[in-house]
Order: sequence, then structure tokens, then C-alpha cells
Amino acid sequence: MPKTLCDWSKKELKQKPEKLHALTRNACHYCKKCGRVANTKKALCSAESFSKAMTVVEEVDFAA
Ligand SMILES: [Zn+2]
Repeated sequence: MPKTLCDWSKKELKQKPEKLHALTRNACHYCKKCGRVANTKKALCSAESFSKAMTVVEEVDFAA
């Protein structure tokens, strides 16, 4: 079974930024469990589509 983005360690994130970018650019899915995003649901352990979940997207206060 391929490793999901959710399983990546800090070390792997450091080692494979190109792969991370390839998986996360134009992300249209997110992980319900970990909050990670990806452009393929295969890269996430509990994937959900952004388009289904999104209603109103406005600027969000990051700290909120
Ligand atoms: Zn996950």
C-alpha cells in the first residue's frame, strides 16, 4: 500500500519537497483527519473533496 501524505514524517517532508509540491499544488481534496491537502485523494488517509464541503469562501483569520 502506498504511503499517504498523512504518514509522511518531518524528515520525509524535508527530503521530498518536490513530491510534496506535486501532490499539493492545485489541491482539491483535504484530509478530514489530519487537515492535509492534496490534488489526489489517494495521497490522504481520510480524503474529502473541497468542492463538496465548501460553501462560502472568504478571507479567513488564520488565528481564529
Ligand atoms: Zn490524513
